[in-house]
Amino acid sequence: MAHESDSAPESVDFVREKVLADLAAGTFGGRVLTRFPPEPNGYLHIGHAKSICLNFGIASEFGGACNLRFDDTNPETEDHEYIDAIIADVRWLGFEPAGEPKYASDYFEQLYQWAEHLIERGLAYVDDQDADTISAQRGGFGQPGVESPHRDRSVEENLDLFRQMRDGAFADGARVLRAKIDMQAENMQLRDPVLYRIRRVPHVRTGEGWVIYPTYDWAHGQSDAIEGITQSICTLEFADHRPLYDWCLSHLDLPYEKPEQTEFARLNLTHTVTSKRKLKALVDDGNVDGWDDPRMPTLRGMRRRGYPASAIRAFMDQIGVAKNNSIVDIELLESFVRDELNDTSLRRMAVVKPLKVVITNWPDGQVVMVEAPNHQQKPETGTRQVPFSGELWIEQDDFELVPPPKYYRLSPGNEVRLRAGFYITANDVVTDDDGTVVEVRCTYDPESEGGQTPDGRKVKATMHWVSARHAVDATVHLYDRLVDSEGELNPASRTVCQAKLEPALADVAPGQVIQFERLGYFAVDPDDRRLFHRTVGLRDEWANIKKRQK
Ligand code: ATP
Ligand code: MG
Repeated sequence: MAHESDSAPESVDFVREKVLADLAAGTFGGRVLTRFPPEPNGYLHIGHAKSICLNFGIASEFGGACNLRFDDTNPETEDHEYIDAIIADVRWLGFEPAGEPKYASDYFEQLYQWAEHLIERGLAYVDDQDADTISAQRGGFGQPGVESPHRDRSVEENLDLFRQMRDGAFADGARVLRAKIDMQAENMQLRDPVLYRIRRVPHVRTGEGWVIYPTYDWAHGQSDAIEGITQSICTLEFADHRPLYDWCLSHLDLPYEKPEQTEFARLNLTHTVTSKRKLKALVDDGNVDGWDDPRMPTLRGMRRRGYPASAIRAFMDQIGVAKNNSIVDIELLESFVRDELNDTSLRRMAVVKPLKVVITNWPDGQVVMVEAPNHQQKPETGTRQVPFSGELWIEQDDFELVPPPKYYRLSPGNEVRLRAGFYITANDVVTDDDGTVVEVRCTYDPESEGGQTPDGRKVKATMHWVSARHAVDATVHLYDRLVDSEGELNPASRTVCQAKLEPALADVAPGQVIQFERLGYFAVDPDDRRLFHRTVGLRDEWANIKKRQK
């Protein structure tokens, strides 16, 4: 398993404290078995990554294991495509589930038997009322619940009806099985919750084998118990389900010690949708190219965008786990991505919004190979040869016909350094009919090869460039936030550029991330070598946010 540490960290959060306490008390005989329980109705997103890092992290830190268990109890929305993707994405994030993936549907027979067991003990009954009636009778806070007229059926009648439910004798929605707990309970979850409903929908794994399906509350804790889970770690919204979780387990003969549910705050990030339902809508409505669109906060999207899995794990370590919901700045995650890419990615030159430069005193047809470092801070990564010639591409932003104050880049009469190349001075421009500059005519200093002059004179700007004759054409996608701070879709979240790349960028391995000098980090698309996605920019926006917060 990646991301291992030999001992528990020094300052531990409340979830790990609980594990330590259980270990000290011998509650589970020294076992630690956690689980990550996704519903296979969408792709994993950055919120899931938090749960994965927590569950798998605890397992590895305490010498335990973590199951991957699909909570596949809603046949309408579940699909094999999601199952396969979730398995792959957990591995990509760097974690190896214990044994084969598990499925709640593997336990349907045991869950059914346990439901009969509740009926036999007078703790569950078949209700003939429809969902709306049952819901209306639940009451509310400070409002009493109303008992179903079917609540006091005999064990025999309940068993008979429940078996007929399983055998398909009734229409969808005609009957449900409910736990018989307390319709006046203060905790609404305990007001005779539904355990089984009838649904004639083929299931992704059991096909037409079942027409009744357990609810989350009946499937979840019992699946934990079947697997011998020790700490069942879930998000805060399940805190008020915990008494029900415990109630169900307390009435069954369990194969292991009773698992314990612990809740933590879910991860919320600014500018980030972390609801599968909403992400699916973005895909279905065509607002993004798919679940793996680089703008999506899915693991697939982040991977295509060039986020290293290790940066996501480091981010999760940094933010830790909390008992209260909060919102984390997306810039913090980006700073982890940037830090890692700064270390690992090679430097190259690319021009994403090209403007032609012609060097009028350059010897006709001459090409000079200049040497440029692969990584300025890491000489051990060596250098590369970059062709320089009399026609170059520079960024449109790096030239101004009428420069504003303190503009030191190229403008008429001004001299700049071309990185690893020569000094050039702009003398003239060619414009199109609209007056837009389409070409800058410059002269160069032949004594300035490598970006230095014999007289040591200084220029204030160093710019990147690409030799026009040698340039590789590519498409570059620049990204802005997918949603604004109100969660509204940003119509300008993607800018498509026709870029010019230095020749060394022609054969970058799929998925690799490169620093385009002065522009940011860019990932080669895994399916298209001529498509680059901007992973993150160079500027550490998180540092600015921190300064503002102080
Ligand atoms: P969604 O709202 O996106 O559908 P979910 O909780 O319904 O999320 P599941 O597939 O049930 O999705 O989630 C699997 C696990 O991931 C659960 O244990 C859930 O608590 C956890 N999880 C989901 N979203 C987050 C989040 N934002 N932060 C932390 N954990 C999360
Ligand atoms: Mg869920």
